Amino acid sequence: MGIPLATAERLAPLVGHSPTITTLCSHSSLQIFHGARKEGFRTLGLAAGPARRFYDAFPLARPDRFLTVPKMADLPSTADHLRGEAAVIIPHGSFVEYMGAETFRTWDVPVYGNRNVLAWEADREKSREWLESAGATMPRRYENAAEVDGPVIVKYYGAKGGKGFYLAKNREALEDFRPTGPYVIQEYVLGTRYYMHFFYSPLSDRGYRVGHGSLELLGMDRRDEANIDELYKLGAQEELLRAGIRPTFVVTGNVPVVLRESLLPRAFDVAAKIVERSIELFGGMVGPFCIEGIMTEELEFKVFEISTRIVAGTNLFISGSPYSDFVEPNLSTGRRIAQEIRRAQELGRLAEIIS
Ligand code: ATP
Repeated sequence: MGIPLATAERLAPLVGHSPTITTLCSHSSLQIFHGARKEGFRTLGLAAGPARRFYDAFPLARPDRFLTVPKMADLPSTADHLRGEAAVIIPHGSFVEYMGAETFRTWDVPVYGNRNVLAWEADREKSREWLESAGATMPRRYENAAEVDGPVIVKYYGAKGGKGFYLAKNREALEDFRPTGPYVIQEYVLGTRYYMHFFYSPLSDRGYRVGHGSLELLGMDRRDEANIDELYKLGAQEELLRAGIRPTFVVTGNVPVVLRESLLPRAFDVAAKIVERSIELFGGMVGPFCIEGIMTEELEFKVFEISTRIVAGTNLFISGSPYSDFVEPNLSTGRRIAQEIRRAQELGRLAEIIS
C-alpha cells in the first residue's frame, strides 16, 4: 500500500458516487476530457468569463457540462457545488498558475495528485534541493558574476511565461546586465532539450517498479519557444542587443521527439530517483510529471526544471506516442489519469492518489 494523502473528510463527496472528471478549460483540458470520456466518466469544464465556444468544434473532447464563473477569482467559491458533483479536479499548469498556488493548495475539493508537491516545485531553491538530493545533475549555479566561466542564463525569481531571462556568452558580457530584482545566475547548458512525460502510479504492481508502484514513460516533446528558437537567423547576439532585441522563451507550441534508445535507461533512472526522493520528502509525487532537461554532447543530461502535473506537450499524443504505444494502444496522459482514478476507486485506494 502507498501513502494516504487525503483525509476521509476530503474524500467524503466521492463515497458511493462515480467521480466527475473536472478541469479548467485551457492547457490540456481537451485531452483530459477526451481521456475521461473514453474511460466512461462524466466530465465538467470550469471556465471563467465567456463560454468556450471552440469546444463545440471538438465533439469527442467537449466536456459534458460547463460551470462558468464571471472571473478566475470566483472559482474558489464553487467548492460546495463541486463537492455536490463528486468532482475530482485534475490540475494542469495553467490551472495552478491562474488560480494561484496557495489558493489551489487550500481549495477544499478532491484534487488528483499530491498538493504538497506545490511547495517543492514552485520555489527554485526547494526544487533544486529535491532534484539534487535525488541525484539529478542540474545546471551549475554561480554565486556571483566573478565566478562565471562560460555562457550563462540569468533567471529572475518568479519569472513567468518565458520572459525575464538574460543570456550572456561569458563573464564580460554579463557586465552589461542591470538587475531589476532578485535573480540566479545559471550555467547556460549547450545541447538538445527534452521534456519527458512520465507517470508514477502508486497503485500499479507491474512494469518498471519504483517506490510503492511503478513508473511509465508516456511521451516526449520539445517546446517551441519564441523568440529564441528563431533568433539565430538574425545573426550575432551583440548586434541584436544593440538593436534592442532580447531573447525570450515564450512557449508557442510543441513538437514530438524521441530520445536515443541507449539513453532511456538513464532517463528512467533519474525519474525513478526523483519519485523515490519525493516520497521521502513530502509523501510522494503522484500521476503525471515532466522532467525538463538538456542532453549535452557528452551525453550528460542536465535537469533544469520539473513540472509535477500534466504538461501541454502531452497534447501531441492523444492516440498514443512512440513510448505509450508500448504500454497500451491509444493511451494519452489524460486517459491514463482517468484509468488511475477508476482503478483507485475499484481498489478502495482513492486516498493514495487524491489530496
Ligand atoms: P516555466 O514557465 O516552464 O515554469 P520557467 O519560467 O521556470 O518556465 P525554465 O523552464 O527554467 O523557466 O526555462 C525556460 C526555458 O529556458 C527552457 O525551456 C529552456 O529552453 C531554457 N533554459 C532554462 N534553463 C536553461 C539552462 N540552464 N541552459 C539552457 N537553456 C535553459
